[in-house]
Amino acid sequence: SKPVVAVVGRPNVGKSTLVNRLSVNRDAIVHESRGVTRDRSYHDCDWNGREFVLIDTGGIESLKSKDVFAPRIREQALAACDEADVIVFVVDGTVGVTDEDEEVARVVRKSKKPVFLVVNKIDNPETMLDDWNYYSLGVGEPRALSAGHGHGTGDLLDDVVAAF
Ligand code: GDP
Ligand code: MG
Repeated sequence: SKPVVAVVGRPNVGKSTLVNRLSVNRDAIVHESRGVTRDRSYHDCDWNGREFVLIDTGGIESLKSKDVFAPRIREQALAACDEADVIVFVVDGTVGVTDEDEEVARVVRKSKKPVFLVVNKIDNPETMLDDWNYYSLGVGEPRALSAGHGHGTGDLLDDVVAAF
């Protein structure tokens, strides 16, 4: 079966925007074997002929309400990381590292799976990242990206498919 890439991160960092940009079409696919979950949606992707499935987390209605709290975020990250071959961990480059990001980072590190740390919302590609800040998450080298504009997405996909 196709490799699975989980996109994890706290609410509002741009996970769904990234998944929509990377996936073949904007519709979630329904995996009969996986059933229906409010927390995760599955999306077909193809990068230069390499097919894989992207998991978007924290979706639909569950995290848009005010009852967003760390245990819930951790559970969602955990479930997605369990299913994944490769993890894309998204943080918000306009905000910096938060406690919730650190919570997700712990889950990601524990999974021991290949992880790519995306610092999203860097809409101006010339922006210098506060690198040390993101390195402190302990999941490797941060990469600036703009899911909104698309900068950095091709490089990310090259590296993701090379990790399968
Ligand atoms: P999610 O909760 O992690 O799935 O985040 P969303 O994809 O729903 O995005 C949250 C907000 O951030 C939305 O208003 C997006 O339009 C915005 N956003 C996402 N990616 C970018 C980006 O690269 N640049 C900017 N400026 N905004 C973005
Ligand atoms: Mg979302």
